[in-house]
Amino acid sequence: MATSQRIAVYPGSFDPLTNGHVDIIRRGARLFDRIVVAILVNEQKTPMFTTDDRVAMVREAFAGEPSVGVETFDGLLVEFAARHGAGAIVRGLRAVSDFEYEFQMALMNRRLDARVETVFMMPAAEYSYISSRLVKEVVMLGGSVTGLVPEAVERRLHDRRARA
Ligand code: ADP
Repeated sequence: MATSQRIAVYPGSFDPLTNGHVDIIRRGARLFDRIVVAILVNEQKTPMFTTDDRVAMVREAFAGEPSVGVETFDGLLVEFAARHGAGAIVRGLRAVSDFEYEFQMALMNRRLDARVETVFMMPAAEYSYISSRLVKEVVMLGGSVTGLVPEAVERRLHDRRARA
């Protein structure tokens, strides 16, 4: 029954999905019955990939894995979590530098809805230096990101560079 399931949401920009994100999603999928990747739509910064492309990249990476879902959202994350019956927000921590912002956001979300718990997870060390921003920069400058992003994402990044 849906109400007895342990559901988590994993929010972010995912512009694009990296193997660091994939690592966190897999760890989350072991802890929860279902993990919903929640792609933020209303961003101040202009993303490289459209929302549809970002959704498609997650779908491609987790095809055949029914415990991983993907949705888009804008507005308050705690409201999105409540709508999806999620009791947890998953976030990845790469380094101490991530901590301050994450800590503020977790406490704000708790103030907004104390029923939702934020859960932090660390990726495997080899992914701890990867960010979507760095991956985009390297590809646009002609470098290789093989092994840092799923293959389908790498293809889309190269298509994007070819069209730039
Ligand atoms: P946001 O704009 O919300 O930071 P991101 O897509 O950059 O969106 O990141 C979403 C979440 O994934 C954040 O919790 C971020 O810390 C985490 N994350 C990003 N890259 C990695 C990585 N390489 N390893 C682990 N977690 C990561």
